[in-house]
Amino acid sequence: MLPVPISGGRAVSVRADANHHRTRAGSVLPGDDRPGEGRPDPLSGVPDAVYRLDAQGRFAYLNEAAERLLGQRADELLGRDVREAFPGLRGSVAEEQVRQVLDDGRSREFHFFYEPTSRWYEVRVFADPAGAAVLFRDIDTRRRSEQERDTQLRELAAVLDALPTPTVLIGPDGRILSTNGAWNRNGRRLLPDAAWPGRVGEDYLASMTRSLDRSAHDDLASGVRSLLTDAARSDGRSFHLDYASPTREGVLWFHLQATRVDAEGRVVITHTDITDQVRARDELVWKVRHDDLTGLPNRARLLELTTEALAADHRAGVALLVLDLDAFKTVNDSLGHQIGDELLRLVAGRLSEQLRPGDAVARLGADQFVVLAHGCDASEAAALAFRLQTVFARPFAVGEITVPLSASIGVAVARPDVRDAHHLLSDADAAMFAAKSSGRDRVHLFSPVLREAARWRLEVATRLRGEAIDQLVVHYQPVVRLDTGEIEGVEALVRWQHPERGLLSPDTFLSVAEETGQIIPITRWLLRETTRKAAEWAAQGLNLRMSVNVSARHFSAETLVRDVRVALQQSGLPADQLVLELTETSVAEDPTRAEDQLSVLRGFGVRVAIDDFGTGWSSLAQLFSLPIGTLKIDRSLLAAAERVAAGETGAVLAAIVGLTRTLGIRSVAEGIETTEHLRMVREAGCDLAQGWLLGHPMPADRLPGWVREVQLAGGDLCALAMAGHAVPAPG
Ligand code: C2E
Ligand code: MG
Ligand code: MG
Repeated sequence: MLPVPISGGRAVSVRADANHHRTRAGSVLPGDDRPGEGRPDPLSGVPDAVYRLDAQGRFAYLNEAAERLLGQRADELLGRDVREAFPGLRGSVAEEQVRQVLDDGRSREFHFFYEPTSRWYEVRVFADPAGAAVLFRDIDTRRRSEQERDTQLRELAAVLDALPTPTVLIGPDGRILSTNGAWNRNGRRLLPDAAWPGRVGEDYLASMTRSLDRSAHDDLASGVRSLLTDAARSDGRSFHLDYASPTREGVLWFHLQATRVDAEGRVVITHTDITDQVRARDELVWKVRHDDLTGLPNRARLLELTTEALAADHRAGVALLVLDLDAFKTVNDSLGHQIGDELLRLVAGRLSEQLRPGDAVARLGADQFVVLAHGCDASEAAALAFRLQTVFARPFAVGEITVPLSASIGVAVARPDVRDAHHLLSDADAAMFAAKSSGRDRVHLFSPVLREAARWRLEVATRLRGEAIDQLVVHYQPVVRLDTGEIEGVEALVRWQHPERGLLSPDTFLSVAEETGQIIPITRWLLRETTRKAAEWAAQGLNLRMSVNVSARHFSAETLVRDVRVALQQSGLPADQLVLELTETSVAEDPTRAEDQLSVLRGFGVRVAIDDFGTGWSSLAQLFSLPIGTLKIDRSLLAAAERVAAGETGAVLAAIVGLTRTLGIRSVAEGIETTEHLRMVREAGCDLAQGWLLGHPMPADRLPGWVREVQLAGGDLCALAMAGHAVPAPG
């Protein structure tokens, strides 16, 4: 059955039966000029159905296809009114359309659903002078499959729309069939102002050039194309890609998943924002390899970089420079960790400015930095070290405070036998250690001798845990009153009687003992030994106040108070005959705890001296708020004073001494080597003095005899020294 337009301004539908009849043949759109006998109907072979109506709406012509579709033979229809032949058309859209064509002479084209057959037809109606020509065809199957697809698509779109992930559906030709709300919202939010997210009908890959860089887009294109084109493969295949997208909100990361959903080749593509995960992961990876405080590479990263450099630069040298800030601990302790941290950041910044492209600076922790330099031989590396020192020429400013800093630098250059990052770093470290021991602000190049030094440190650490503690001996250096020249007491100075190396000074082993913690049992032993000795001398009529050096480590371990009490009880020495010497830095480390412990010690009657005053960087106010009895002025201050103009010298020393006196603190001048020193410190008003001019440290068994010799010579050591009388030297 077919829709058939009729004349009289009404559309009709025609019920066609299966009968097959030939029409009277006509011209292309045949009218009254019916073809003569034998003239073939030019429209008979045309697949579309064609018929003509006269102005009254009667059939004037039908081709074979029309007969088939209408289901009636031409000779049954010709001359009949179409509405009468197909009453189902009355009042239909088709009738209306044909009426309009007949009215205005303009052609019409439309789809028409003919209810009696329940089928869809495509109809074209042309006006012609004698009525109208109608072309039509059955499009029911096509139309229904299109509709079905549209329905599916609408359903799919509804599903997609409900998804929170930006999603598009693309067709086999790569064009976007559907997008969801998340896709559109996301696109408008993130893309640059003028750009739009891909829209329906647009080529998906073309639209994605706005979000991906070239290489990611290449990956995307090849992945998506293989899903679209590879028809042989079944559905459900998918393709993944993580990509970074520059957006108005910075670079965001997406996980793209494209999945082929049906045999037609449609592909669903989701774009999940994974920025948070990527950032968290990156941050973690970054954190593992960088220093939180400065953002510089950390030790692990430095070793990686060094390993890479060593592998790459076979001929060009690779150098490591380890920088250790001098006395930074004191800065930290006195100014607080916040300022300390800020200073470290400033140092990191200045060091980074000095780097050549390709070189790196890392922070090993605490106050140590390392520069990794490429293409350096030993002399170039040393030159770099001196350049790095200039970084410290200007003081560092944090808010109102300016702090002068310096660094000790150790340099190691890779050699054919040193191609391992750890090895090179430990060489540079040994060199730094040597620089540090030779005084602050020095540069030291690694040499195999330093490796020897490192070995020595290891040996010390091992031995001190074993037999070495029994090989320690104590020497005593006289402390002299400057007013009378009398010997007031002695300072106990430890030495190591090494079985192979002879008598070793404390500098060679005490820093290791500090590091390993052995200093505590050593000091405990020393306290017992020296108090016993002092009590023994006192019993012989030789009253000498005993000064014992105590390390910062011991001070912070909090066993000091107990160790002192035990030593005093066991020896019977009156507490006021014991002086504990603490360095400025050990006190500055934790002033509150220092104050507590010192107060307890003072409570027993033990005296406390601050040693090496002038070498640290301490807050005088803080220092003098502690319960200390004596201040020992370091010999470096004396040496410095000697270098500057004489008048000024006296002024500096006198100022310190004057201050101590006001506070009721006694002062001791250390390192008196010359009569000039002695004159200087006397003039400045120091109370006590100690130094080679007055007496070298000597073993316990020599001391009583030596004191007796001095007493026999008048007992005034200062006068003896000034007069150039030889003071007995230690044996
Ligand atoms: P310190 O406590 O400042 O001791 C003074 C150091 O100066 C001693 O060096 C002494 O021998 C030296 N000295 C004395 N007079 C002069 C002089 O006129 N000129 C010069 N140039 N030096 C002089 P020593 O014995 O080598 O001790 C070095 C440092 O080792 C000591 O400095 C002290 O900090 C530490 N020390 C020594 N014995 C002990 C100890 O038993 N325990 C602890 N914790 N530290 C100790
Ligand atoms: Mg001392
Ligand atoms: Mg000292």
